Amino acid sequence: MKLLLVFLLALTLSACANNTLKDIGYSDDEIKVIESLSDDSINIIEKEPYDSELMDLINDPTFDEAKLDEYLALDGLDADDRLMIVNKGYYSDTYDATTLALMKTSYYIHDRLDRYLAYIDSVGETDLRSVVEHVNCDRDHEVYTDTMVSDTSKGDLMIANKYYTIEDYVPEDLVHIDSYYGLDAYLDRDTYEAYTAMADQMMSEGIDVWITSAYRSYDSQVNIYNRYLATDPQEVVDTYSARPGFSDHQTGRVVDLIEPGGDLGSFEYTDAKAWLDEHAYEYGFILRYPEDKEDITGYMYESWHYRYVGKEVAKYIHDTGITFDEYYAYFIGS
Ligand SMILES: [Zn+2]
Repeated sequence: MKLLLVFLLALTLSACANNTLKDIGYSDDEIKVIESLSDDSINIIEKEPYDSELMDLINDPTFDEAKLDEYLALDGLDADDRLMIVNKGYYSDTYDATTLALMKTSYYIHDRLDRYLAYIDSVGETDLRSVVEHVNCDRDHEVYTDTMVSDTSKGDLMIANKYYTIEDYVPEDLVHIDSYYGLDAYLDRDTYEAYTAMADQMMSEGIDVWITSAYRSYDSQVNIYNRYLATDPQEVVDTYSARPGFSDHQTGRVVDLIEPGGDLGSFEYTDAKAWLDEHAYEYGFILRYPEDKEDITGYMYESWHYRYVGKEVAKYIHDTGITFDEYYAYFIGS
């Protein structure tokens, strides 16, 4: 008898649950799906109005039942947007169309949302990929103000640009460049080994190439920068020369290349440059300041300046066409 009462009670309770979901407007098939969730989840759903996207949410392989509250709170958005926002941890109370579109933009960094929105306001830029790219590369900030100290423990992936300083960093394992490959200067060992392998291949194909600048110490950059200041105003010098502590060359992972007998300006038109366009990444090198990215890197196009970042990252940058600055912001810095 007791058992029967318990059974009847259970039956009544389950009938109630069905009724509640039914009252809200869910069909029998939908109720079956909802009832596959935990009792807590069912209770939450019962407190909300009918949600036409709920089946799409629950049936999606990325649906995370623990975050049911957040999915439900985003009613008014379609299931895909709600899954993207909640699963990536972008949840907040309100969403406007621009924010939502930014979140779907390649290389969106959630921590920088306010900066993206401020950049749109101040510049009036409507191409959201361009907004994300500029802000990722800190181009919404004044150069050389509020600069950050670069994490040199990142080794080949350390960054030096107009927003990150490597201060007085000196590479630990500097190797003297053999006169067969370039001028009397030094490079970080891994960079040097990668470079000589690449240069050997080029020369075996009859393509001459020569290192005309490599590692530059903090002090030598002081001299270079001051020399330029004697002829050009600082805002002009800043477009073609780094301030001391901010130079890519100081990482020890950079070569400036020429064809023997040629100069930096003519390197663009050499067989060596054409070869590097195709193969540099295979040896871990990238063109650090590409054409058409002046506004992103903050530097004029330098066809001669190659930075070692390792094969994997070089291939990624080669394949996607993003700058190292943006790679750093997206994959290393955040
Ligand atoms: Zn250079």
